[in-house]
Parts: sequence; structure tokens; C-alpha cells
Amino acid sequence: MTSQIDHLVSIVTTDLVAITRGRPVPSRSLEKSAATGVGWVPANLSLTPFGGIVSENPWGSSGDLRLLPNTSARYATDLTGSPTPFDVVMGDLVELDGSPWGGCTRSLLKDAVDDLKRETGLSVIATFEQEFRLFDCVLPEAHPFSVSALRAADPFPAKLFAALEQAGASPEMVLAEYGENQFEITNGPTDALSAADRAVVIREVTREMARNLGWRASFSPKSAPDAVGNGVHIHFSFVDGGGKPVTYDPARPGGLSANAGAFCAGVLRHLPAITVLTASSVPSFYRLKPHNWSSSYTWLAQQDREASLRICPIVSIGGRDPSRQFNIEYRVADATSNPYLALAAILRAGLEGLKAGLFDPPLFSGDPETLAEGEREKLGLQRLPQTLEDAVQALKADDTVTGWFAPALVETFVGVKSHEIERSRNMTPEDICSLYGKLY
Ligand code: GLU
Ligand code: MG
Repeated sequence: MTSQIDHLVSIVTTDLVAITRGRPVPSRSLEKSAATGVGWVPANLSLTPFGGIVSENPWGSSGDLRLLPNTSARYATDLTGSPTPFDVVMGDLVELDGSPWGGCTRSLLKDAVDDLKRETGLSVIATFEQEFRLFDCVLPEAHPFSVSALRAADPFPAKLFAALEQAGASPEMVLAEYGENQFEITNGPTDALSAADRAVVIREVTREMARNLGWRASFSPKSAPDAVGNGVHIHFSFVDGGGKPVTYDPARPGGLSANAGAFCAGVLRHLPAITVLTASSVPSFYRLKPHNWSSSYTWLAQQDREASLRICPIVSIGGRDPSRQFNIEYRVADATSNPYLALAAILRAGLEGLKAGLFDPPLFSGDPETLAEGEREKLGLQRLPQTLEDAVQALKADDTVTGWFAPALVETFVGVKSHEIERSRNMTPEDICSLYGKLY
């Protein structure tokens, strides 16, 4: 990418409310900054999506950190329509002596990836599929998935694709979705850390491009309580130390290898507790309802979009190798959750399943809502938390899950989420959706 001026590069971190924040340095001095990073403040982790720092927080007004750029995770494009290039480099928060800081979500994901590899030999391949809605633009009414819905937004989808490609986010498709003015961006599978980095870049570039047209792109899970939801679907699969895919075993139920089955069982066991880490806001729970193609039960299914873990289809056209395509989709996520924390929670939960040698969860096909409570229980179908408040309680009740993180991180997360719950308490669901629609 070329540019006339020495533009600013932002060294960024994504916080517990999924806002990407950072500090800029001139691009010419990025290499110099890479050694010691830029300053950061611990209490920033207690920032709410509304702007303020929660007063009850473990950090106070003292203390300092460094935000260290990973220059190999730099994403830049001059195609967003802004006067200077979009240029971000992913940072890791460390103490002043360079030792790890327990509040850095990107480092938490790295640690989860490393532990999974060390304890099982498995590496994760992942991708985040993200839906969003355009506002403040006059687009003619159009049919879902239609050519006219895509063309009506022209040149936005094509330019977005080009910008993401130039930035290195490997887009696969920008498509018109089911909802009004709703679109989706998919990108190619990669290692877990790059997948989460790309999720951040995709959100930021999409919003910036929309802004430059006088539009607004919102990834918030619900633009209105009864609107079509914006999901974030996290796809994952595994390779062994030699890079060989090891998720698929055609001889086993659903095609899940024994390791993949144990991993899924761990995720479902801890799903009520990790829900708040992957669907983290009040409106998240307007989306997680039955018959919304989102997910609402601890449920593994083959190719069913109501399940929380969906075994994705494999295509055999042209004799394609199924083992390389086979992957599982976690559907309980949205963009009010931090992608690093969300994926770290999935990996940690899956690792618990592997360590405990859990058997595959039952594959269920049908509508859990039509079953009696007892029948659902037998099939392991447990309703997910139905409000942010319940989801926070479910997190606090699972000592295994809270044990994965530094106590101060859990305390901060619960503090920020409690603030969001209080702020929303006397608001209507419509007003809550409209507030979060503008924040995300
Ligand atoms: N919009 C749905 C959601 O809220 C997903 C639809 C789809 O499967 O693409 O997750
Ligand atoms: Mg979709």
C-alpha cells in the first residue's frame, strides 16, 4: 500500500466491551515503538460502551502498562474513502517490565491456543463470520439475498471487499443477508489469533467505510427487538502438529473425530457460563431465542442453524477432501463480545472436555421447544441464560470458567456488565436496541 503522507498507525487493543481502542504513532516510527510500545492505563479495562469508567473497579487511578505492537499483525488499506489510510497494528498489553498482564484479552487467546497445543497436540483453525446492518442510507426495499439488495448498496460491498483484501483480512464474500439492509462478511480460515484480529479489522473497516458515505454500519445483535439478528458465527476445526486435519472421522456420529467430540462436549458443558463472554450485552439476549436461527439451547446438531454448535456441511463436488473442509460453527456469539475472549473461552471449554475425556454430546435434530422438560434434559438440551443478568450469574457460578482468568479480570468484567444491566434497567427493549445499535 502506498501513501503520499506519513500517516498515523494505531497500536490497538480490544477491551471487555469489544471496543477497539489505541494510540497512534507516525508510521515512520512504528519500528521504534515496537520495542517498548506505547503507554496504557489499567483502569481503561473498566470502560463501559457508554464512555465512562465504572467507579467500582479493581484498578483505581494509579498504575501504568505498555501496549506492545505486533508488527506482523498490521492491517492497512487506503481504500476506505478516508483522507489517510486505515492502518492498525494489534497490540498486547504488558507490565512495564514486559511481563504479561492478566487483563490483555489477546494474550489470553494466545495462552489458550498454547495450552491446547501443549496438552493435546491440537492447533485451531478458525474464522469469524459477521453480520451487520446499514443505517442512515436510503436503500430501496429489496428481497432477502437478492441481487438487487446487493446492487442497491453499490459500490459499498465491492469497495469493502477490496479494502479488506488489501488490509490482509482475506475476505471470501460480502453478501446481502436476510434482514432489511443486512449484510454479512465471511473470510478465510486461519490460525485462532489471526482470526480474532481479522474480526476486529472487519468491524472497524466496515464502520469506517460506511461513515465515509454518511452511513452507519452496526454489528449490534438486534437493531430492534423483533428485527433479524446480527450474529457472529465462529467456525473452528483442528489440525495436528504436522498440519493434518483431525476434526473429521466419517465412521463416528456426525463425522466428529473423538477429539472433536470431546471438545464439543466441553463447550456445551460450560456453555451457560461462557455465553456472557461471547454474547455480552443486554440486546444479545433478544437474539438468543428459539426460532431465530441464532441458538438458545446447549445443542449440537448437524447442519441446523438453531443449534449452538452446528456441524457444517461438507461438499463432495469434484471429489473434494472432506477432512479439510469439515468444521464446527459456534453460533452463540455477537459483536458486543470481544473476539479474543470469545474464542479463548471456547478453546478453554473445549480443552476441559478433552482433558476430562468426555464423550460426544448427543446429536439432536428437531425443535427442542416441542419437547417436554424431562426429554430435553435427557438429551442434554439446557436453555441458555435469557438475560444478561442471568448470564453473569451463570458465569459466576462456574468455578472452572472463572478459574481460567485472573480474578481482577473477572471482577472487572462483572463490574462493567453490571453497569450495563443497571443502565438498561428502566429502558424499553426498543430504546436498548437503538442505544446499542449506535455503539456497535
Ligand atoms: N442472523 C442469524 C443470527 O442472528 C444467522 C443467520 C444465518 O445463519 O446466517 O445469527
Ligand atoms: Mg448469515
